[in-house]
Amino acid sequence: MTDRRIILATRNEHKVGELADILSDVLASTCRELVGVSEFDLDDVVESGVTFAQNALLKARATAQATGLPALADDSGLAVDVLGGSPGIFSARWSGTHGDDANNNALLLAQLADVPDEHRAARFVCAAALVLPDGTEVVREGQARGTLLRAPRGDGGFGYDPLLLMPDGRSLAEYSSPEKHAISHRGAAFRALADDVSRLLPASP
Ligand code: IMP
Repeated sequence: MTDRRIILATRNEHKVGELADILSDVLASTCRELVGVSEFDLDDVVESGVTFAQNALLKARATAQATGLPALADDSGLAVDVLGGSPGIFSARWSGTHGDDANNNALLLAQLADVPDEHRAARFVCAAALVLPDGTEVVREGQARGTLLRAPRGDGGFGYDPLLLMPDGRSLAEYSSPEKHAISHRGAAFRALADDVSRLLPASP
């Protein structure tokens, strides 16, 4: 019997659920199931790439090779115009400790303290990669643009969400999860990749 699983290169079950939602139509039409890597005994991949796309491909490639199944991966972060695209691939550890959202946000706000509002443009960027066991690779990118606030606003989301003011006057931390998925960098990247999934992984192989 054909294995219908697509492996998402993350141990974060929340992310598996979020992407299963975003990809629900294409998963249904191709009769596929999205699962995380937790059920496999895989080593962590060293994210040695220097772009979001390279890191997403590294993770998807290692997962497809190790499992023999189609693999998806993403890499994302915040790119601030006046910082030349930083924190970029270093977003998760900008203040020195991986995943320390409070200190990452505080450092970024301090660095931009003297930057006037008209120069505080920033965007979230996500690269989403699909790699098949036969070596086929596709990567798509999505973005969400806004302006950096001067203090965190809102209780939702994670990471830099409370700092990014969207064009509708709310910070991303003031969006509900479905609202955020509809406009987010991750939503855009994976919706673009959905066409590749249905082209490369048809329902009847
Ligand atoms: P990852 O590639 O999804 O692990 O994200 C890396 C880092 O980028 C996170 O730790 C956050 O600091 C930042 N980031 C990525 N996506 C988002 C988002 O949707 N909201 C806020 N921060 C994000």
